[in-house]
Amino acid sequence: MVKFERPRGTRDFTPEEMHKRNYVKKIVCGVFESHGYREIMVPTFEHTELFEVKSGSDIRKHMYVFTDKGGRSLCLRPEATASVCRMFLDELRSRQPPLKLYYCCPMFRYDEPQKGRYREFWQIGVELIGSRTSESDAEVILLASESLKKLGLKFRLELNHLGVIRSLLSDLSEDSQNEILTSIDKKDYYKIKSILSDREDTLLKLIALEGNGRKAADEARELLKGREKALNALSELEAVLKWLDSTGTEYTIKFGVARGLEYYTGMVFEIRVEGLGAQNQICGGGRYDNLISVFGGADTPAVGFAFGFDRVVEAMESQGVSFPDYRVDVVVAPASEDMGKESWKIASDLRQRLSGRIVELDVMGRKLAKVLEYASNIKAKYVVIVGATELKDRKIVLRNMESREQSTVLIDELAGKLT
Ligand code: AMP
Repeated sequence: MVKFERPRGTRDFTPEEMHKRNYVKKIVCGVFESHGYREIMVPTFEHTELFEVKSGSDIRKHMYVFTDKGGRSLCLRPEATASVCRMFLDELRSRQPPLKLYYCCPMFRYDEPQKGRYREFWQIGVELIGSRTSESDAEVILLASESLKKLGLKFRLELNHLGVIRSLLSDLSEDSQNEILTSIDKKDYYKIKSILSDREDTLLKLIALEGNGRKAADEARELLKGREKALNALSELEAVLKWLDSTGTEYTIKFGVARGLEYYTGMVFEIRVEGLGAQNQICGGGRYDNLISVFGGADTPAVGFAFGFDRVVEAMESQGVSFPDYRVDVVVAPASEDMGKESWKIASDLRQRLSGRIVELDVMGRKLAKVLEYASNIKAKYVVIVGATELKDRKIVLRNMESREQSTVLIDELAGKLT
């Protein structure tokens, strides 16, 4: 006999896990929607070039690329920002800005699987297209931090502006700049030094600067004296901080945040949590004002982020955040075989009247004692026992599974008795 195993880096999710994941998704998407963001969906696979252009060497290395029967090179999406920009150009470019979009879907990266790192993983992300203001930067940061607060997670928000680093490297080619940014992202200081051959001491001092609140920005201003471009980028970052301060959002400025993706042009941010070990980054994002024009569109500014959804759920578990219980409200049990049809009707009627509550009907044809045992095992709140004697008077027996009390109740009054 053949025994099949899941492909490496993929997971199955049990009903209990899906209950938690759906709860997290509902809270996060609720925060997005309360700010006017609307859900979109993009294809699971795209033409490979879409992700080759600007995704960054790390993502390019880990893409799931295949050739279809028509000989086209396709790729399972490793991230969604490139797809959203492509979609914007195909479907949404004529709409009045800003476009406030969000998505929740699986991504695929041929990465080395470990705790918190999978080959199929989910991201919930936001893209705000069409605005260049510091409010829009601050709004997407706020969406991320409000979502995590609402979930009850403790986290650390780290901010930077890539314009500061890039302005120190402006005499290098874009490829070399990207190589340095990737090395900063990976904390590969040896590589940075080898590319810069020790000529740029300021950069190394800069990326070491970090701290809660604005202090690190003041230190950077001192360090970057006389470098106009770098100071302008710093001022843009400070404009974002002003909005965050006005909502009491706590942040850390960290000039070593570089992000692994090449399309970022301005403010960037990452969110980290305790309790996840090495894979503790649960969110990453920033401003990418050139990507849409690289894809052939007009000059269109944009900013966004993605939560690593799996890591958010895992962080909640490891931080001991509680999830709502799943509880079946009612199990409807025919007392004898001939009560099946009536039980079916009573269960349907209850579902209509008690919208949003869970009403299960026994579908196993079991004896009543077995149904009661099942209801007790799944911790159902009530069992409705449908028996011939009571039914003659349009009644059923209602059993409260916690108190074990039973009473005879008119079918018409049943919905009102289920608290
Ligand atoms: P990125 O698109 O690389 O900026 O990633 C955004 C977020 O997705 C990260 O902060 C992680 O939380 C999550 N993430 C990235 N790669 C993986 C992976 N292989 N498995 C699980 N989560 C991931």
